[in-house]
Amino acid sequence: WEKLTNLHSTKDELGEMQLSYNKMIDRIYENIEKQERFVSDASHELKTPLSVITSYTELLQRRGKDRPELWEEATNAILSEAERMKQLTEQMLLLAKNQEQENIRFELVDISSIIRSIIRSLSVAYDREIILYTDQVNTEISADKQKIYQAIYILVDNACKYSDSDIHLQVKEGPTELTISVKDFGEGLSKEDQQHIFDRFYRVDKARSRKSGGTGLGLAICHSIIQAHGGTITIESELNEGSTFTIHLPK
Ligand code: ADP
Repeated sequence: WEKLTNLHSTKDELGEMQLSYNKMIDRIYENIEKQERFVSDASHELKTPLSVITSYTELLQRRGKDRPELWEEATNAILSEAERMKQLTEQMLLLAKNQEQENIRFELVDISSIIRSIIRSLSVAYDREIILYTDQVNTEISADKQKIYQAIYILVDNACKYSDSDIHLQVKEGPTELTISVKDFGEGLSKEDQQHIFDRFYRVDKARSRKSGGTGLGLAICHSIIQAHGGTITIESELNEGSTFTIHLPK
């Protein structure tokens, strides 16, 4: 602003300012577009369970009295679609919250102990061998404990959902970062899918993902948490061989 109001700014300086101003406007438009797409995708995702609920309720109203066997089928479907809507809205709220950096509460956390607790719950839930490899590394970093738990949980949960064999977890300490990788030997992802995997509501196999309770928001949530911590997530995957998701967190 100082430069802009300074009558002695050179032509080059003014040109530079014009460029950064244009970039800023582009980013604002990009964000508005993203928000609009999110609202339209979210409404679309909520419409499906809503229309199942409406159809079954109408069916019960018309035929429920003459056909008591309909009762169980309809109420089960209504309940499970209502559950899905609840899960979707909860995850959408999470995503909105995680995008704001000020919602991150930093404290000293031990990543290995977070991972061990995730392994305890998911190995029981999926009856699966989840193996943790760590050298004697210092895995304490400054992070939001609950959110980092959530991000790693999503990756391990996905590894269990989209593969049938053991899952390997590894924590490594580098000079400037800590890496946490989650490796499965499942269906893997094509190069094309890998490019969209962190997009909100993106699912490779919608039917399978829906059956396993998937919303297509898990990886977007995970990505937003890691981004808010100043980290990144990388993926290596081969179709039918498996995938490795790696979180890189600054120390
Ligand atoms: P969902 O709730 O559907 O699991 P995610 O955002 O967590 O949503 O994942 C998006 C999609 O990425 C999933 O529907 C699935 O198709 C694919 N995916 C995620 N993790 C894996 C994995 N470990 N192996 C293969 N595909 C995966």
